[in-house]
Amino acid sequence: MNREQTVVSIVRGKDPRVITREAISLIGGLGPALKAVDTVLIKPNFGVDMPSTTGGTTNPLVVLTLIELAKEAGAKRVLVGESSVVGYNAGKIFDFLGVREPFERAGAELVNMDSDKSVKVEVPNGKVFENIRVHRTAWESDFIISVPVMKTHFQTVVSLGLKNMKGTLPDSTKKLSHRIGVRQRKEEFELEHSILDLNSVLTPRLTVIDGVVAQEGYKPGSPGVTGSPVPMDIVVAGFDPVATDATAANLMGFDPMEVPLIKRAFERGLGEARIEMIKTIGTPVNQVRRKFRAASLEGIELTHKNLRLCVDKGCSGCRETTILALAGMEADEISGIGEAELLIGQQAEANSSEWKKILIGNCAKDLPYEGYNIEGCPPPSFYIKKCLKGEEDTIDW
Ligand code: SF4
Repeated sequence: MNREQTVVSIVRGKDPRVITREAISLIGGLGPALKAVDTVLIKPNFGVDMPSTTGGTTNPLVVLTLIELAKEAGAKRVLVGESSVVGYNAGKIFDFLGVREPFERAGAELVNMDSDKSVKVEVPNGKVFENIRVHRTAWESDFIISVPVMKTHFQTVVSLGLKNMKGTLPDSTKKLSHRIGVRQRKEEFELEHSILDLNSVLTPRLTVIDGVVAQEGYKPGSPGVTGSPVPMDIVVAGFDPVATDATAANLMGFDPMEVPLIKRAFERGLGEARIEMIKTIGTPVNQVRRKFRAASLEGIELTHKNLRLCVDKGCSGCRETTILALAGMEADEISGIGEAELLIGQQAEANSSEWKKILIGNCAKDLPYEGYNIEGCPPPSFYIKKCLKGEEDTIDW
């Protein structure tokens, strides 16, 4: 393993542009890496319409600095491309964030990959996919820079550079990668392996993690999977995507070898995850390490005291749509239900034998409880609301 693959820089400071430049400079700059490279794709996390001050999207100044660095290093074309979270459109997110003008002025082309064509790519050592559809822009780029924002995640513990690559998938494949594991009921089919199958064929050559404002925990009622902002004032950068994610996870207080996505990436030979084998340079780890709250529904207080969530490890689809449905409802709209447990996922366990059971999603249909099944994969929020309000013909709470 050479020096480039195991060195990761960490730089703390108040100016996102300065710390991004410094982080890249510490790992040797972009000059050698971009020699003979035509097209660079910078892939930020512009998945939802939240400003970077929430920790929900990548700080535009980090991206802008990378555009400048790539141009200075001689890249002929610099693209900034995104395919947002299902239900969002990257073009609208570019507008919301106000990044078109500054990015184009710096010499980049913005690519709304939600309007892009896709290509079917063989996955030679795939665990989930024998082949996978990816956006053509990503496939045809010579050098991908994954620029996630540092945050926790429901299913994958952390959402960093490897996870950020999901935004190179068309929506149909994004959905499939979330559901396939649940359907197959096998560990090796979990979401982690679909993300790693993708990374094995579309490998980020550089990962730059924006920790200017990171994000932790889970906040019900917010759009998408989201939590609370954590100002960290750091950027983490490295050429080894696994080592860079492992370093950031360590800074967030997680043992990378206990984060399945990172551990499996290491086991599959996609990079280094053992902290003792990664050399960090720049700001010392002990000056920036902070214990992040995991993104979990554990301990979430629902505003509706007559309802309780019982969730197993299934995919995030039903959890998200249920939380969103509940967040938009007044107590008197659902008082007709009485006391009820909402069971989500194929191994959810009820807490009470007294409370009514509502089985949410197709996965919960076969649970050994008598109750009403709200069908769908996932059932959309508006339909869950309709059912909870008793407005479906088949329901009589
Ligand atoms: S039914 Fe719900 S939990 Fe099951 S795969 Fe579909 S979205 Fe995920």
